[in-house]
Amino acid sequence: MATIKAIEDRSVHQIQSGQVIVDLCSVAKELIENSLDAGASTIEIRFKNNGLDLIEVQDNGSGISPENYENIALKHYTSKLSSYDDLSRLHTFGFRGEALSSLCALANFHITTAQANQAPRASRLDFEVSGKLQKTQIVAGQKGTTASVEGIFKRLPVRRRELEKNIKREYGKVLNLLHAYACISVGVRFSVKNTVGKTKNVVVFSTNGNRTTRENIANVYGAKTLSALIPLDLDLEFDPSASMKKVGNDKKSNQIVVRGHISRPVFGEGRQTPDRQMFFVNSRPCGLPQIAKTFNEAYRSFNVSQSPFIFADFQMDTDAYDVNVSPDKRQILIHDAAAMIESLKTSLVELFEAADQTVPQSQVLGSKLSTPKQQAL
Ligand code: ADP
Ligand code: MG
Repeated sequence: MATIKAIEDRSVHQIQSGQVIVDLCSVAKELIENSLDAGASTIEIRFKNNGLDLIEVQDNGSGISPENYENIALKHYTSKLSSYDDLSRLHTFGFRGEALSSLCALANFHITTAQANQAPRASRLDFEVSGKLQKTQIVAGQKGTTASVEGIFKRLPVRRRELEKNIKREYGKVLNLLHAYACISVGVRFSVKNTVGKTKNVVVFSTNGNRTTRENIANVYGAKTLSALIPLDLDLEFDPSASMKKVGNDKKSNQIVVRGHISRPVFGEGRQTPDRQMFFVNSRPCGLPQIAKTFNEAYRSFNVSQSPFIFADFQMDTDAYDVNVSPDKRQILIHDAAAMIESLKTSLVELFEAADQTVPQSQVLGSKLSTPKQQAL
């Protein structure tokens, strides 16, 4: 009979790492969030072979202090959070200190970094699989940090094969995620490049460090898309649930505001927007399936022939939701989701009704259907 024994530390580390870095999107997400947390105003993302060979994120942020080199990729090392109590006051993306440690377990990972007083010299840091610092070299480099991930999942062969098989689709998903970060991050210049075979560093898209999300959307999706959008500006108010009252929330009601842009609810030629829907909580991109459903249903009651372009940032107190639900932090639990959704439904219908009546005549006449869609609800 087989004896029961503990799994080797190294294997445990790899298994756990596979829960933080689940796919190509999680690699890009973790690295970009680190750059944003470091106060970067320029972020360049470079792929080789759609990310299979290399995903590299270069920023002009704070750089890493030499005294942290030893610890940076050790599990649960973070400069952003020191106790669990800090979690509710969190304003950075990262807080678990798991991403770099996981990347060391799953790929060949190295960092080049310089703080302002070090440039034009920088340090290249190489790490062991465990996250331990292996060696440090002085190289040329500007202020900021470049994190390079080569051969992702090479130590999890089944996952690597899956990724190779689905790389086109996975790469497409990463681009969508990068679009979301690029659109929401005002004042940050994004550029994304890919090298496939001999075609080197093809610019996939870029933004100009704009001051508004509108301009970011125009950079990413084009002026034509922008012209088909109306502002999304909703103030949702509702009574807090019993559970929120119990945890001592002394506010009379919760308030959540939604800021962003959405397709005008009118069907017509030349008004087609790409079928893109981006949701954020306090500027953090995340999937909000129930909220997406609410938006689509409300929109469909005005326009059955097209699904809307949605860019919606839900802004609320940090104690109104919990990001600590899944290891990859993609799921967000909004405590009062049900009450909020009811309020959202009403507000969306009001917004669409108003927009519906204010369609510029030129645009109505320019479309084949000269009268705006069927009214419902
Ligand atoms: P977390 O972001 O949860 O703190 P990570 O494993 O992603 O954990 O990063 C570990 C630490 O490495 C961060 O707390 C930060 O101090 C440092 N770091 C990582 N990436 C960067 C970067 N691009 N610029 C500056 N510091 C960074
Ligand atoms: Mg991080």
